[in-house]
Amino acid sequence: MQPSMFNVRVPLEERSDVFLMNTLTDAQLIVSGDVMDLLDRMSEPGFAPADETEREALFTLAEHGFLVDSRDADRQNIEAFFSDVHESREQLRVTVLTTLQCNFACDYCIQGDHGDYNKHAAKMSMESAARVAEWTEARLDALQPAQLALTFFGGEPLLNLPIMYYLAERLFASCQARGIKTSINVITNGLLLTPEVIDRLLPCGLNGVKITLDGDRETHNRMRPLRGGQGTFDRIVQNIRNIAGRCKISIGGNFDESSVDSYPALLDFLAEQEFADQLAKVAFKPIIREPQPAKAKGVISLTAVNNSGKPLNGTCMTSAGTATNACDSCHVLDEKMSFLREETKKHGFPTVDGVHMGPCEIHKRHAHTIGPDGSLYACPGFAGNAKESTGHIDGRSDAFRSGAAARFEQLRAWHECDDCPFIPVCAGGCTAAAYTELFDMNKPNCHKPSFEAGIIALAREAARSLEPAMA
Ligand code: SF4
Ligand code: SF4
Repeated sequence: MQPSMFNVRVPLEERSDVFLMNTLTDAQLIVSGDVMDLLDRMSEPGFAPADETEREALFTLAEHGFLVDSRDADRQNIEAFFSDVHESREQLRVTVLTTLQCNFACDYCIQGDHGDYNKHAAKMSMESAARVAEWTEARLDALQPAQLALTFFGGEPLLNLPIMYYLAERLFASCQARGIKTSINVITNGLLLTPEVIDRLLPCGLNGVKITLDGDRETHNRMRPLRGGQGTFDRIVQNIRNIAGRCKISIGGNFDESSVDSYPALLDFLAEQEFADQLAKVAFKPIIREPQPAKAKGVISLTAVNNSGKPLNGTCMTSAGTATNACDSCHVLDEKMSFLREETKKHGFPTVDGVHMGPCEIHKRHAHTIGPDGSLYACPGFAGNAKESTGHIDGRSDAFRSGAAARFEQLRAWHECDDCPFIPVCAGGCTAAAYTELFDMNKPNCHKPSFEAGIIALAREAARSLEPAMA
C-alpha cells in the first residue's frame, strides 16, 4: 500500500503533532510525527512495519482512506466519486430565474441599470411557470428523490412575486402528494424582502434567504445603489431586522480591492445587531469583472464575466460561484478571501471552512437551472447565455442545445490537475469562471492558495478540539 494522493498534512504549531486529512474520504486525524515518518518510509524500497504499533497505525490509516493500493486506485476512486456525485438521486435541484430584471444598479453588474437593460430583460410568464411546474413534476416522478431543493434567483427574484408564490405553492403540493421533502431558498438583494414574503413561503418549505451586503454602509451604498443612485444599506438591514427569527438568513458579499477593507467594519456592525445570532452563514467572495485593457494602478485585474459583456451570462453575481466561492485566479484575492473568512469566524458567525467547497452543482446530473423563458442551463453561472442552454422544458430539440449539453456532460477539468490533493473538494474550480476568464470551460480555474489557507485554519480548529488519535 501507499499514501493516498488526497492526503494533506499540516504541522501543528506549538505541538509536535500533525493534522492529517484525506479530502476524498474526509477523514481527519491528529497524529504524531512518528506516524508521518511511517507514511514517508512507505515509499522506500522493501518497506515493512517495524513492530505491532506500526502495524496498528497502518491499519488505522488504511481504514480512514489514507492508504491506497496504488496511484491507479486513487484515480479509480476519484472517478467513482465524481460518478456518484453526478448520478446521485438524493435531491432534485431546480433553480428558477423568475426574471432577469433588477432594481439595483450595481457598478460591477452590467445587468443593473446601465441604460434600458430592464426594458428588455426577460420575466417569466404565468404560462411558462405552469410549464416549469409540469416539467419539475415529471422529473420528480422519474427520479423519486428524497428532496426537491428549489431556489429562486434572478435578476431580482422578488420582482416577480406571483411566479415565485405560484411555483412554491404548486411544487410544495406536488412534493407532499409524492412524499418528497421540499427545501426552498431565495437569493435576493433584500430590498423587497418583508415578513409577508417569508410567511407566504414558510408553509411551502422555506429553508432560508441569502441577502447581499457589499461592505459597510458607505461602501455598500456605493457598490449597490438603487437605479436612481440612492443607497440601499439601511433599508436592507431594516428588512433583515423585520424577518429575523422567521427563517434562516445568510449574508453574502462581493468584494474587490476598493471594498475589501470595509468588510471588518461590516462584520463589527453585524455583530452588534440584535439579529446577529440569527445569521446562519456569512461568506464573502471576489467580484468577477471583465478584464480591462490597461490595468489602472491599485486595481486588481478580475475575471471577465463574458466576452459579450454580461455578468456570468446574465445572472446576478450575488450567488455565482456558490460552491467554490472562488471565481478568480488572483492570489491576492485568495489571500483576502482567507482573511475575510478568518475575520468572519472571529466575529462569531458561521461561515464556509474554505475546504469543503464542492463539487458544485454543475457536476450533478439532477441539478437544473431554468431561465425565464424555460431554457435549461447547466448551472446559474451560465443562465441567460442562450448559446450555452442545454435544453428547454418543452423538450424542443435544437442542435445548439444538444451540443451544449454534450459539452457540459464531458466536463472533466480536474483531469488537468495532476495529483492535486484538493480535486475531490474542488473538481477543477468554477467552470463558469473558467469559461469567462480562460475562454475554455474544460480548463481548471485554480484557487489552490485559498484551499491551502482553508486547510491550515481547519487544522488549527481541529487541534483545539481533538485529542491525538495516535501517539
Ligand atoms: S460552475 Fe461556478 S457558477 Fe456554476 S455552480 Fe459551479 S461554482 Fe457555481
Ligand atoms: S483547480 Fe487547482 S486547487 Fe482545484 S483541483 Fe485543480 S489544481 Fe487543485
